[in-house]
Amino acid sequence: MTSAFEVIRRITNATPAPAADERCDMCDEPIGGDHPHVVNMEGRTLMCVCRGCYLLFTDRDATLRYRAVPDRFLSFPDDTITAVDWDALEIPVNLAFVFRNSALGRMVAFYPGPAGAIESDLSLTAWRSLVERRPVLDDLADDVEALLIRLPDRTDHARTGGPATEVLLLPIDVCYEFVAQVRLRWRGFDGGSDVKAYVDEFFTAMTARARPAGAR
Ligand SMILES: [Zn+2]
Ligand SMILES: [Zn+2]
Repeated sequence: MTSAFEVIRRITNATPAPAADERCDMCDEPIGGDHPHVVNMEGRTLMCVCRGCYLLFTDRDATLRYRAVPDRFLSFPDDTITAVDWDALEIPVNLAFVFRNSALGRMVAFYPGPAGAIESDLSLTAWRSLVERRPVLDDLADDVEALLIRLPDRTDHARTGGPATEVLLLPIDVCYEFVAQVRLRWRGFDGGSDVKAYVDEFFTAMTARARPAGAR
C-alpha cells in the first residue's frame, strides 16, 4: 500500500504546468489552461480534464476510480481552531493542511517544506474532538478537499491571550500548487522572506476568493 506521503508527493510532482494546447487526459478533447482536475484514486495522480469528463466523477458518495476536485473555497471564523486546539492536534509547525484519505480511512496532515509536502503527526483523537465541537470542519470531501490552517506567530499575540488562526477549505489541487510554489521559493532553514511573502499573499488571495462557511 502506498503511504500518504508517497501519495501526496506523487500528486505534487504530477501537477501539470498550464499550457494553451493541453488536452483532456481522458477523452483527448482540447482544453484551455483553466480546466478542472480529477484525482485518479488508483495511481493517486492528478488528471487534467474537460468539463464533460469532470462531470462524470462529481458524486462524492460514489465508489469511483476517479474523483472530481470540487471548485469550492470556504473561510471560517478566527476562533474555529484555537491555539489550544492546535496544540492538541500535535502538528509541530504553524502551517499545515489536513484532508481525509479514503484509502487509509483517516485524516492526514501535511506541511510544505523544501522537499515538497511533509507528512505531519496528527492526533486523531484530538481531531475527532475538534469536529464534534465544530461540525462545520467535517464537511470535507474525501481525498479532494483540504483544510489549510495557519497559526500566526504566538509571540506577536502574547498579550491578547491567543492568536487568531486562519482556516480555509480549498480544493486539493490548489493545496498542491501551494506546496509546489513554497518549495520553489524555499531558502535556508525556515524558507526565508520569499516564502513568508508568498504565504501571506496566498492567504490574502484565497481569503478574498472564499465565501464564509455556512453562508448561502
Ligand atoms: Zn474529456
Ligand atoms: Zn491541469
